Amino acid sequence: MVSKRTEDLIKWDAEHIIHPYIPVGHNAGLVIEKGHGIWLVDTEGREYIDMGAQLGYALLGYGRKDIADAVHEQISNLGATHLWFGWSNTKTIECAQKLTEVTPKGLDRFHFTSGGSEAIDSALKMARLYWSLQGKNKWKIICFYGSYHGFGGGTWSTSLGRGNAWEGIGPPMPGFVFTPSYYCYRCMFGLKYPDCNMQCARYLGEVIQSEGVGTVAAFMAEPVMGAAGLIAPPPEYWPMVRKICDEHDVLMIGDEVQSGFVKTGKMFALQNWDVTPDIMTMAKAINNGFIPFGGVAINDRVYQVLKDNPFWHGYTYSGHAVGAAASIVTLNVYLRDKVIENTAKVGKHITERLEAEFKPLPCVGGYTALGLMIGVEIVANKTTKAAFSPDMRSKIQRQMWDKGVLARPISGYGGTRLFISPPCIITMEQTDKMLDLILPVIAALKPS
Ligand code: PLP
Repeated sequence: MVSKRTEDLIKWDAEHIIHPYIPVGHNAGLVIEKGHGIWLVDTEGREYIDMGAQLGYALLGYGRKDIADAVHEQISNLGATHLWFGWSNTKTIECAQKLTEVTPKGLDRFHFTSGGSEAIDSALKMARLYWSLQGKNKWKIICFYGSYHGFGGGTWSTSLGRGNAWEGIGPPMPGFVFTPSYYCYRCMFGLKYPDCNMQCARYLGEVIQSEGVGTVAAFMAEPVMGAAGLIAPPPEYWPMVRKICDEHDVLMIGDEVQSGFVKTGKMFALQNWDVTPDIMTMAKAINNGFIPFGGVAINDRVYQVLKDNPFWHGYTYSGHAVGAAASIVTLNVYLRDKVIENTAKVGKHITERLEAEFKPLPCVGGYTALGLMIGVEIVANKTTKAAFSPDMRSKIQRQMWDKGVLARPISGYGGTRLFISPPCIITMEQTDKMLDLILPVIAALKPS
């Protein structure tokens, strides 16, 4: 039973708000009213640990006065001015300067956007321009089957390649080519790591050759796949791919929209393997997700080619000063509070508990973990690797909510993965509480 107020809100929402990624006219039957720390509070006053940090952005948790104060000050002093035609404002410049302290060495030229999809579209244009300005007709972009880069114009054509996100609204934009990812549990080559000889990485070279080296502009992928189920790659993957891109004269775009900013135990995920992309996209946790904001960072190689040429691209809110102000304070807190260290420590602890307590369970097929980007493969049958039905997945999610853990629907590309990716400020005690609450739900699952 819920109160009349909650009932009315849920009903009005279902009738008037069209939600992403759910049938039109439906909602999840939960309305959040406020939050503090790692907790979200619904309209009934019930508290939940947010096990996904929303869509992977609220890494510093909720109800942050420090970010609120920065936003308040910026709006009180100015609000925003745009960056078009070379206009600028102090906050956006300060934000870019702050970013140079945290982005990988060499990635210190920025184009700002209102979020991740716009950052990807910007990156795709930059990659193509990079080649065309040199008189080369290289336009194809290679992506993963199952990757997610957003649902904007170009990004939609790259996301969840050939998956159901294209049904009924195709065709996608031309010029995108797909290759199998590093999703080892459901390897598209039917191989097993480490005996596979890293076929997924090697195959990228074959795809580039087959498509024609002279036509491929870039390879773009998530360093750790997010929406596909928080899938971390084997350690060899990215160093091999960086080399393949260089050998084939193809740019490498690292999409750090989901994996960027402390979440993997490094500031950016690719730093876990000492790999630096030519172009890097970012958004989400850049300011704890509190103001829509994102950007693209490019290296000197790309910058020197683009320099002095027009860049016919941009958004009304590119470099929005309020988003920039929120980003500066967020980046400062990441550094001041040693959030990277906490993420690594807590992530390791979760991995140890997954290994000892979750992995032996009859419906846990395995997991991958990098910092606090942890995906657990939930299977109806460990031998066949069959996934649970959508109904059963919703049931599991609801059971976790009832216990006070806000799990996002366990989904994935081909499989069913439970996302364990709470705010990176979570303490060890809170982590154990979260795992203790979800463990019985997973343990009770019966294989079929
Ligand atoms: N790239 C990745 C890896 C993402 O996870 C997302 C969103 O989840 C995007 C791009 C798109 O970002 P946005 O939703 O801010 O447009």
